[in-house]
Amino acid sequence: MMPTGPRDTCPVIPSPPTALTIAGSDSGGGAGIQADLKTFLACHVHGMSAITAVTVQNSLGVTGFYELPPHAVSEQIESVAGDIGVGATKTGMLASAEIMAAVASTVRRLELRPFVVDPVAASQHGDALLRPDAFAALRDLIIPLATLITPNIGEVRLLTGVDIRSRADMREAARALHALGPQWVLVKGGHLPDGDAVDVLFDGTNFQELTAPRTLTDHTHGSGDTLAAAITAGLARGLDVPDAVAEGKRFISGAVAHSFALGHGLGPVGHFWRIRDWPDAQDAPSDPA
Ligand code: PLP
Repeated sequence: MMPTGPRDTCPVIPSPPTALTIAGSDSGGGAGIQADLKTFLACHVHGMSAITAVTVQNSLGVTGFYELPPHAVSEQIESVAGDIGVGATKTGMLASAEIMAAVASTVRRLELRPFVVDPVAASQHGDALLRPDAFAALRDLIIPLATLITPNIGEVRLLTGVDIRSRADMREAARALHALGPQWVLVKGGHLPDGDAVDVLFDGTNFQELTAPRTLTDHTHGSGDTLAAAITAGLARGLDVPDAVAEGKRFISGAVAHSFALGHGLGPVGHFWRIRDWPDAQDAPSDPA
């Protein structure tokens, strides 16, 4: 039976657009599911999650992860899609080939689109977030379903063998990645050593470059997840891919510019930066070091 009572006195506000993340939990709160849900909130969509794995993680790195059974991942997706509806979906850490097979068949059956794939392989500390045999499943089962894939230069190297040193390399890599089957490819140059942060967007015909000034900081934990989540939020709000990518790039540039120290290692990007009543930096809890 539907509940009655206090809910009748609540003002009715329009429902926001919805977005789903299929990803791993970061116990440190800076990346993974936690980054995605914070980003969805900051980008004005209702966030939902299908958790694939629980990582044991802090600012110093990932010391382990525990996978959910593949059917439990599919059931989470089916549950929210069947009731609430999913405006746009993204993937992050998918952990194993078995989870990828379950996600691919569920996404295909439910026709979840737009579908953004962040081909996560490892953390910025270099800790593996995929079982070694899972990369082929990411390439062969997940990427061909994607509306957009968002690899960084390390993930590009794993997927294509292209070692990116220049913008020409980024274009070559984008062509090779597009041949794997996604509709759009965003090759991220943020991990190149210097210059502006330049990304290349490719739809199989045309290239577009997106440039933002680089913020020099080590505290960029969760930056890839945050960009993909912000793009997904834009798609859920009805933007087309180029506009959603441009909006995502604005959001991640602001979040990196507001990144902060946390713990004794790499701090996270600041998901809060567009939240108007966030306290000034001097009011924030101090560094525990
Ligand atoms: N932990 C989880 C659960 C993630 O999904 C990711 C990235 O997708 C990371 C950690 C890695 O974050 P970073 O590359 O910022 O270390």
